[in-house]
Amino acid sequence: MDFTQQLFYPSAPLVMSRPGTMKQTAMNATKKTPTRKAAKSVKNTKSSQYVYNFGKQTDGNATMRELLGGKGANLAEMAAIGLPVPPGFTISTEVCTYVYAHNRSYPKSLAADVKEAVGLIENQMEKVFGGKDNPLLVSVRSGARDSMPGMMDTILNLGLNDITVEGLAKISGKPSFAWDCYRRFIQMYGDVVMGVEAADEESEDPFHELLDALKKSLNKTLDSQLTADDLKLLVSQYKELIRKRTGKAFPQDVYEQLWGATGAVFGSWRNDRAILYRQQYGIPAEWGTAVNIQAMVFGNAGDDCATGVAFTRDPANGEKRFYGEYLINAQGEDVVAGVRTPKAISVMEKEMPKSFAALEKVRTKLEGHFKDMQDFEFTIEGGRLFMLQTRNGKRTGLAAIRIAVEMVKEKLMDQRTALLKIPAESVDTLLVPIFDVRSQKEATMIGKGLPAGPGAATGRIAFTAAAAEIESRKGNKVVLCRTETSPDDLKGMLYSSGILTTRGGVSSHAALVARQLGKVCVCGAGDVSINYEKRTLTAGGVTLAEGDYISINGTTGSIYKGMIESADSEVKRVLEGTLKPEKSYTYELFQTVMAWSDKYRKLRIRTNADTPAMAETAVAYGAEGIGLCRTEHMFFEGDRIDFMRQMILAVDQVQRKAALKKLLPFQRKDFIGLFKAMAGRPVTIRLLDPPLHEFLPQDDAVRRQLADKLGLPLEFVIERIKALHEENPMLGCRGCRLGILYPEITEMQVRAVFEAAASVMTAKKSPMKVNPEIMIPLVGFKAELADQLAIVHRVAQEVMDKNQIKIDYIVGTMIEVPRAAITAEQIAEEAQFFSFGTNDLTQTTLGLSRDDMGSFYDEYQRKEIYNKNPFASLDQTGVGKLMEFAVENGLKTRKDLKLGICGEHAGDPDSIDFCHRLGLHYVSCSPPRVPIARLAAAQAALRHK
Ligand code: PEP
Ligand code: MG
Repeated sequence: MDFTQQLFYPSAPLVMSRPGTMKQTAMNATKKTPTRKAAKSVKNTKSSQYVYNFGKQTDGNATMRELLGGKGANLAEMAAIGLPVPPGFTISTEVCTYVYAHNRSYPKSLAADVKEAVGLIENQMEKVFGGKDNPLLVSVRSGARDSMPGMMDTILNLGLNDITVEGLAKISGKPSFAWDCYRRFIQMYGDVVMGVEAADEESEDPFHELLDALKKSLNKTLDSQLTADDLKLLVSQYKELIRKRTGKAFPQDVYEQLWGATGAVFGSWRNDRAILYRQQYGIPAEWGTAVNIQAMVFGNAGDDCATGVAFTRDPANGEKRFYGEYLINAQGEDVVAGVRTPKAISVMEKEMPKSFAALEKVRTKLEGHFKDMQDFEFTIEGGRLFMLQTRNGKRTGLAAIRIAVEMVKEKLMDQRTALLKIPAESVDTLLVPIFDVRSQKEATMIGKGLPAGPGAATGRIAFTAAAAEIESRKGNKVVLCRTETSPDDLKGMLYSSGILTTRGGVSSHAALVARQLGKVCVCGAGDVSINYEKRTLTAGGVTLAEGDYISINGTTGSIYKGMIESADSEVKRVLEGTLKPEKSYTYELFQTVMAWSDKYRKLRIRTNADTPAMAETAVAYGAEGIGLCRTEHMFFEGDRIDFMRQMILAVDQVQRKAALKKLLPFQRKDFIGLFKAMAGRPVTIRLLDPPLHEFLPQDDAVRRQLADKLGLPLEFVIERIKALHEENPMLGCRGCRLGILYPEITEMQVRAVFEAAASVMTAKKSPMKVNPEIMIPLVGFKAELADQLAIVHRVAQEVMDKNQIKIDYIVGTMIEVPRAAITAEQIAEEAQFFSFGTNDLTQTTLGLSRDDMGSFYDEYQRKEIYNKNPFASLDQTGVGKLMEFAVENGLKTRKDLKLGICGEHAGDPDSIDFCHRLGLHYVSCSPPRVPIARLAAAQAALRHK
């Protein structure tokens, strides 16, 4: 049957009769052939059931979302458990798929099935569809498998025409109500089905225009002041508008109306809004929408009628309180449209006590049955309550956690189910500072960058580390704004609440360091330009000077002009000791979720930390070891960077050894601190790996300072920096290449590690176990590893002999270039552990610079070439394949090969799920992400039992 010819209503409007959407759909239809999956499902359903009733006879249930859509499945479920649901039926999603696969025609049996289902509604309502005395009206609503709020079309009050409106007027005794329903119906149908809409975004809706003009001419301000005669006039104006715009009369045949509306809802599956929404949320086009046709009940039939939306708990903070709003004498769209301001549901207790009591009962029943917080729509007609929809309510991160924990306490669900219901990322909302919602709404957004360090920061702009320090010492909050950061900026970063850079990706220096320090960070904000000379920052047409306030949201990447109020999280304050745990319910929630997570997870959670302070924070968050200590970061502090630079600038071994000698005591002291903070937990220490450009001063002033400090001529420093210049430092003399070229560096570092271990183990006061793991970076050849490990073992033995102790240590490598993954079987002959360095492994596998993707990233995302930033969430099909290969082949050589990951991906829930499936032993992420990783690891274990 075809929409146009075989519905017995040749004049019925086409399914895609909205001009805009029709074009869109036609275009899609010719371009897109149905997928094989869709075609298959069509074939299988040739003789299947297309229409599912609910009401006295209910064919579906909540488990049938795929077939009935979320709305249809839950309407059926509510009807089945005895909730007051107006009778109706659902045309399944398979019909939607069928329609698109069969040149917009319906399955043959559908018309008869629909007629029969309408008959069932007529019997239950004791009304007749199209009947002149007691007409049945219906709503026609979309319903996808996952809710797509507001994206598709809805038509209410269908079944009214010039005759049935008189019947409704008579039987209700309220002619103005009947005519109000009719004008609403013509308005919706005219817009959604017949395409009579505003010419463009700036123009008024033509129906509203007529309504406003009428009210004005009658000197009336409210819709409710219009009499039946006024509304009759409006209806005739509406019909005339439709005739003029479309050349067609408004359909009077109720079945023609029904098929027009059904077609429009199926058509809206492919409207621009719905397509965009699906792209955003990864909903496949093959799923299709169902169409729900349901008897109308009227919230607009008098003052004992109302309509509303409610949540069984507060979706903002999760509190167990009834939350919602309603309007007396109104229909659903009035609540949404914002024409009248709805009242809080609590007011209903006084205003409509009986209905409120009925709603309270429904609220408890819904939660008890669906075992989750519900978001539902209801209508009260003549004091009787009716349920029109229910679904799992959307909620904030805090609410998700609170609801899950409290529902376990209330025995509504078990711990496993509760853990799986909390989006792992939402743990972050308990840890990071957040903006005051109202204050943020009022602020002006001036740009956007990559969200690189979550949380909210507000402060005065500082363009240099020195300025940040000065401002912070005055007691002001600071946001350090740089084109990019280098180790020179570390001090400034420490003094700042937030860091904003205009270049660099989410695994750039600024981002890595910010995350480790728990600082808010937005990086790669290409639309922001910084002029260091003028000391100004320009974005979104606004120019700000040093000292002006700026605010950044590192969770979303948004940048705002001015100050936005923010506050530290309670959990952080408890962990820092400034708030008593028993004083914070949020902390109790956090601890509960963490304890449950630890019970179920298989993966160990380590952290990337380079200083004792970071290590302590990570342990407080639950870290079980250090998976990556970037030793070059240990030289960021104080004057050490100068010795580090002296070592890099050295022209020969003598000079280098002199610099290394100065570095050794610092390094040893740091390792002692780290070992003590970790109290016997494993500590993976990676030998030096800096791409040189990250460590050499680029700034003339800093070069001059350095020359002065080291007592070297400035020209020499400039010459050396020039000589060390690399076109591509990320692929240059870094990683194990440094140690191979200059073995004295490796020797110094290893000596510092083992001497520190010996010192901690043999300390007179509270000696401790030490568990060092020495890691060699950027290895691609087994021989590279062998070269470095020879030094490690020799020096370790020397230190152990000297101190007459045995230190339990292991040696291993990072897997961060494809060759290492491909030759894993050989590499494992030398390595006792592999740690996947997925920052570099992504960079080298994708041939994509970690620091330079800002210029094209947006476009790649818009075109869906990257669904997610590959430096934030593991490219499982590409990089993941290499990891899989390395694990499989590494284990062939060494059965007890220890396996971990220390790239930034180790803090990303999807990537953690992948690591669990891969059988890794641990993930190592920055300290603030440890709690997220604990929950994500538990979820992975529960998902893949
Ligand atoms: C990596 O490459 O994933 C890694 C952890 O090392 P870095 O980020 O220090 O290069
Ligand atoms: Mg690396």
